[in-house]
Amino acid sequence: MKNTYYTTIGLEIHAELKTNSKMFCACKNNPDEEEANRNICPVCMAHPGTLPVINKKAVENVIRVGLALNGEIADFTEFDRKNYFYPDIPKAYQISQYKYPIVKGGTLKGVDITRIHLEEDTATSKHEKNYSLVDFNRAGVPLMELVTEPVIHSPEEAGIFARELQLTLQYLCVSDANMEKGEMRVELNISISPDKDVFGTKVEVKNINSFKAMEKAARFEIERMGALLDEGKGNEIVQETRGWDETKGITFSQRKKENSEDYRYFPDPDLPKLSLHTLFDLGNIKETLPMLPEEKRALYAEKYGIKLEDIEVYINDNTLASWFEGVADMLSNKESIILASNYITSDIVGLLKKESDAKLPHKEHFIELVNMVSSGELNSRVAKDILALLVMKDFSPKEYAEEHGLIQKNDEEYLKEIAQKIIDANPAVAEEYKAGKEASLMFFVGQMMKETKGSANPTVTKELLIKLLK
Ligand code: ADP
Ligand code: MG
Ligand code: ZN
Repeated sequence: MKNTYYTTIGLEIHAELKTNSKMFCACKNNPDEEEANRNICPVCMAHPGTLPVINKKAVENVIRVGLALNGEIADFTEFDRKNYFYPDIPKAYQISQYKYPIVKGGTLKGVDITRIHLEEDTATSKHEKNYSLVDFNRAGVPLMELVTEPVIHSPEEAGIFARELQLTLQYLCVSDANMEKGEMRVELNISISPDKDVFGTKVEVKNINSFKAMEKAARFEIERMGALLDEGKGNEIVQETRGWDETKGITFSQRKKENSEDYRYFPDPDLPKLSLHTLFDLGNIKETLPMLPEEKRALYAEKYGIKLEDIEVYINDNTLASWFEGVADMLSNKESIILASNYITSDIVGLLKKESDAKLPHKEHFIELVNMVSSGELNSRVAKDILALLVMKDFSPKEYAEEHGLIQKNDEEYLKEIAQKIIDANPAVAEEYKAGKEASLMFFVGQMMKETKGSANPTVTKELLIKLLK
């Protein structure tokens, strides 16, 4: 790309809501059902003459998201028919919302939200060698759609927004929002323009199944459209839907974009119009919202003073976060909390990943270990060794360290005796050091650690060796 172009991105994000039953019938909403067509009934199979009934919980979930993102909850709302035919939507229309979405406005990570509405998911089709199977388990599952304003200006920003939205949906317990499972689906709208104040023609990219893929697809489109503009072929950029090919890492044209007129939206006559301010106690819903990621970040920074990388680990792992909170509340000062957090995020997390039998230790035992490091009774190396054992089997680190002679040795007389023995046993290395080879000192430090099972105070040991080697 030769010239500079301004990137504009808007996202359309769908998320399957976690309700007991489907959006318009009493069928079980189970995204993990493996047997095809198990959770189905005449309503979600689109049999004629059936009547849909609105799932109140699904509406409430969208309201919760709207309130969490500081959007405006509409009073009047209704459902519309979006007409199109596809084997996975045999009613020939999808029940969605058009003019009166449940939520208008709102913001997340500095990105303005246009709207959030509710619709039904479609069936899925599987194409086998000799036949195609339409599975209606997913048909009628409540699906939330959030649309952002075109105010995102880079693939990275889009990634930050989408990840934060996923977290928010999970914190609110409205959706598991797992992208690999299709519980959250991102459509990327992107355009580039040489002029900051004029939008270029946008394309929409679908079939994106991870945040990384979304960022890659955005970068690919910036390059593709940029090359066309460079060559004066801007007219070849057309408003269309493109697919993302994960293996090839490219987008490809799927179809020219249909307009909303093509869908002939109209209010669904089978469903009642809703007055949300009457049906729901919005004040109460707002008050009972859980703590959101951004609030939790602020709280952790302020209350515990731990570093941002640590905070992000807890933000993404609720079990670990609660455990850390328990630990922190039992520690007496910020230095110990920071130290504890350090062991958690850099050692425990890794150990838990590596060893399938590893468990979070009893808080009391972990705290004992942290306090021993704080007070200088244990050096960091020994602490790490003990920690690796502690996640496999619970015990008192204090007793263990005492039994195994691992309490940090600061006693110069004691250390001197060992050091002299090691120096005497390695005269050649001692000569090398005297001749100016600095690295030889580390050899002796290493031997000291070995001899004391790592319990020698490293600072005292080093100074002592330098003295003895003179
Ligand atoms: P459509 O009618 O094609 O669906 P919308 O106006 O509904 O278009 O917008 C769909 C999405 O595209 C929104 O997220 C919006 O922010 C985004 N969008 C609109 N115009 C642009 C543009 N020029 N560049 C990038 N994204 C855009
Ligand atoms: Mg649209
Ligand atoms: Zn059903």
